[in-house]
Amino acid sequence: MATTRGYVQRLTWLSPGPTVCVVVGPAPSSAEAFFVQIKAGDSQETINTKKSLVAFLTDAQLSGREVNVTHGSTSAEITAADTVAGDTTGIPLQVDGIEVTQAIQDLGHSIPLIAGKRTVVRVYLSYYSGAGVNVSGTIAVRRSPSDPLFTINSENSVALSPAEAGNLSVKRNDATKSLNFVLPASGTVAGPLAIMIASITNTATATTIPVGGERIPIVRFQDSPALRVRIVGMRYTVGTPPVSYAPSTFHVNMLLSWLRRAYPVGQVISSTGVVDVTAAAPGFSCDDVNAQLAAIRALDMAAGGDERTHYYGYVDDGGYWMRGCTAGIPGTVASGPTGPGNWGWDFDGSYGDWYGGHELGHTYGRRHPGFCGESASDLDNYPFPGGQIGSDASFVGFDVGDPANNLPMVALSGTQWKDVMTYCDRQWVSPYTYIGLRRRLITEDSAGAGASAGVAGAGEGFGGRPDQRYPGGAARQEVSGISGIEKRLVSVIAVVNLTRNQGRIRYVNPLERGKESGVEPTSPAVLRMKHSDGSVLDEYPAAVKLNSELLPADDRVGLIEAAIMFDKSATSIELLINGQLADTVAVGGPSPSVRAVRWPPERLGNELSLMVEAEGASERNYRYAVQVSTDYGRTWHTVAVGLTEPRFSIDRSQFKEGDEVQVRILVTNGLDTAVVTTETFRI
Ligand SMILES: [Zn+2]
Repeated sequence: MATTRGYVQRLTWLSPGPTVCVVVGPAPSSAEAFFVQIKAGDSQETINTKKSLVAFLTDAQLSGREVNVTHGSTSAEITAADTVAGDTTGIPLQVDGIEVTQAIQDLGHSIPLIAGKRTVVRVYLSYYSGAGVNVSGTIAVRRSPSDPLFTINSENSVALSPAEAGNLSVKRNDATKSLNFVLPASGTVAGPLAIMIASITNTATATTIPVGGERIPIVRFQDSPALRVRIVGMRYTVGTPPVSYAPSTFHVNMLLSWLRRAYPVGQVISSTGVVDVTAAAPGFSCDDVNAQLAAIRALDMAAGGDERTHYYGYVDDGGYWMRGCTAGIPGTVASGPTGPGNWGWDFDGSYGDWYGGHELGHTYGRRHPGFCGESASDLDNYPFPGGQIGSDASFVGFDVGDPANNLPMVALSGTQWKDVMTYCDRQWVSPYTYIGLRRRLITEDSAGAGASAGVAGAGEGFGGRPDQRYPGGAARQEVSGISGIEKRLVSVIAVVNLTRNQGRIRYVNPLERGKESGVEPTSPAVLRMKHSDGSVLDEYPAAVKLNSELLPADDRVGLIEAAIMFDKSATSIELLINGQLADTVAVGGPSPSVRAVRWPPERLGNELSLMVEAEGASERNYRYAVQVSTDYGRTWHTVAVGLTEPRFSIDRSQFKEGDEVQVRILVTNGLDTAVVTTETFRI
């Protein structure tokens, strides 16, 4: 029998056949090839032994532990393997482990690492002698054995106390007790990365200390779709004298930072805007805000927006506290509050970050695991007790920090921190939620920019660029039906209460392009189009996207977010819930046309004020929407919708100094839209 000592440099299943090739040695250039083979005559017991041997070697490769493999003196077949015990007397400084983390991780690196995401390598060390030592360090990384080594210095130094030697969990739960290394962007591209300790230095003497128990983990970074979000500051005015409230840039930055740190994405593609809440303040609900956002999003998508974009209505709590919610799980729109409150545990100056992470989590299909007073909609699968994100022996959270926003690195104990989809304090992502978010992001991304986010079956049956979805290619307002009757695609947004059979149609906007949302035959909510003679033209049972935060005793409140082909002869839309008429709105009539826009806009402080004169403005069913473009009309963002008066002001702070802005005003009777676009002007 012979023994070879080293790291598992490579482990390959030879295909076809149950043979594993294992390359072991101190370095890639001085390693030998061995194998483990399951043979035809092997007993079940032998097969199991060989399988656990392969599992052990796989784990050793992932964690970079040094191993002894036993094999015949003239044979390359491995018969046994074990880890190399550290000689703590001869070499008092020992490596306990290396953990490569982005948000949540275990020592086996079972959470996939996302390419392009801020990544921290945590090196856990023990010192077994004397009074301890203070150390800093350098690691070296490379993407393949032929690459030159790239060295990275630790962000910190660590005081190693012999009393904590070998105690891995105390170190994992405290960012100041590991040497932390931030990988450069070149180290987080998709593919493998080998990490080794280059040197550990005694900071008191500036001398290098020999290290035992070294391990060379090889981790792999995976490509990931970006998170696409539009954050809409929902402005409202309350008090005497009236004061307006909208979230500050600080709150927006903190939310975006949290999403970058906690979500399984390498990139957050975001835009921001400011929109006045149309519902009365104070007192408006997240259902009101989500209805407005849904109308805005429908118009934005029809104007060429990326369908993968989720919309988040952000409400400053300075004048009024609005509880947050999502319309439907999964969904496309959500809203929630922000402010400086610390909730007894969050002292970074903004709670809108994790609150937004929760609501956006619903839009990505995440439900409540049922802890700390929330309704349990996902109780069966949650892997940890009490909503914990992990345990000392498995998953520990790590906030990689954000220097741009003065946020430090923080280790988040797996037992003290709770999943963001619970109602518990100390919110972070569990592996369960992290992997679930990743799965959903991939599903939506594979459906493409032209598919709908937030649709249960996103990825099937539709897609393509918005301008390719109708025969004829170009954006068209009118599509002829089979019978030759003119049809028009119309977005209808309603807030409904299924418990009380109540509801209101809030927004009706023709869409210049897009696709129908489809019917849900069993829905209790029905949209009915009627002709002026009272005859029914069509009926659409429409899906109701329930408020995500309902408790069992709450009324079933939700949103209808429908895009429907309307017969142009329609004169009214009725909303029926469980067969009862809940609301009626008039549509159609004389086509609107715009006579003039008062131009240039009046500038009142931070506001741009515009006014439109429309023909037949006395028509009581006319509604006005306002869109802005900063890319010469390529894309448009809706900044006002459902206005009953042709006057509005735009918050100038949503643009950058020097932005070239165009504004267009849409006047609609629900079936036809007149559009007038301003000249480009500079902010
Ligand atoms: Zn929730």
